[in-house]
Amino acid sequence: MASGDDLTFDRSVAARSGECLQVSGLVRRIIAPNAGPFTFTGTCSYIVGTGKVAIIDPGPDDAGHVTALLKALSGEAVTHVVVTHTHRDHSPAARAIRAATGARIVGCAPHAQIADAPSGRLDASHDMDHAPDEVMQDGDVLEGAGFHLEAVHTPGHASNHLCFALREENALFSGDHVMGWSTTSVAPPDGDMAAYMASLEKLRARPEAIYWPGHGGPVREPERYVRGLATHRRQRETVILQRIVAGDETILSIVERIYEGLDPRLKGGAALSVLAHLEDLVRKGRVASSDGAATLEARYRAA
Ligand SMILES: [Zn+2]
Repeated sequence: MASGDDLTFDRSVAARSGECLQVSGLVRRIIAPNAGPFTFTGTCSYIVGTGKVAIIDPGPDDAGHVTALLKALSGEAVTHVVVTHTHRDHSPAARAIRAATGARIVGCAPHAQIADAPSGRLDASHDMDHAPDEVMQDGDVLEGAGFHLEAVHTPGHASNHLCFALREENALFSGDHVMGWSTTSVAPPDGDMAAYMASLEKLRARPEAIYWPGHGGPVREPERYVRGLATHRRQRETVILQRIVAGDETILSIVERIYEGLDPRLKGGAALSVLAHLEDLVRKGRVASSDGAATLEARYRAA
């Protein structure tokens, strides 16, 4: 999969789930016990600060993980639970932490309501019950005890996705927008390829020198890596266009051609990723769909 010039994935496992690891001066990390093909070694929950702390992405609705977070923080106060986006592996535990500590839930907006979602599987991955006490907009800064977190709106993986810049360490919590172990999923209708590409460019213009992603270890050369991610998607778009010009009319046939030897569990996600590219190409007028708009079932031809 690593076809971009500067794109090398880091699949080293830095910690076991449940362990609280100090990863920088201000940041601790506990990995949730939800390893899997979409979550790698599990969701990374980050604790920012000391004494009065914020928890970024408390993770799935998992009592054991909530207990591990609270145990690691015994004697400290949780002032904020900060959420990057409303996928079930990131946001649901916010409710249990708020109930146990009185912390405010801040960060991304509630999940977008989308009519005619084409994928039942991905619907199941959305946390529709997320109810923040305060929604942060792009550029809003959360002032904690000894730290500042600036929200950076980065739609693409999810329309409400926020990254958070930690000013004191020139670091960025990149959620699922940029991860070192893999490309991210961009699955319509909530995912959007054009928005994702614009959000990559937005990060490239920023100064942060290290990213702490929602899954896997840190990204230590983010400018170079993000450029590699953008190149990878542009190459993927070119390959999809070539398949259509060569006569492949359906998403299924394109997936069979370009994802050889793919883990069968990831095929649905691959189809949605191709759909995301086709949605962008149809909007740009380069591909025509038999359904007008890009859909999973449509037949496609070069426009
Ligand atoms: Zn996600």
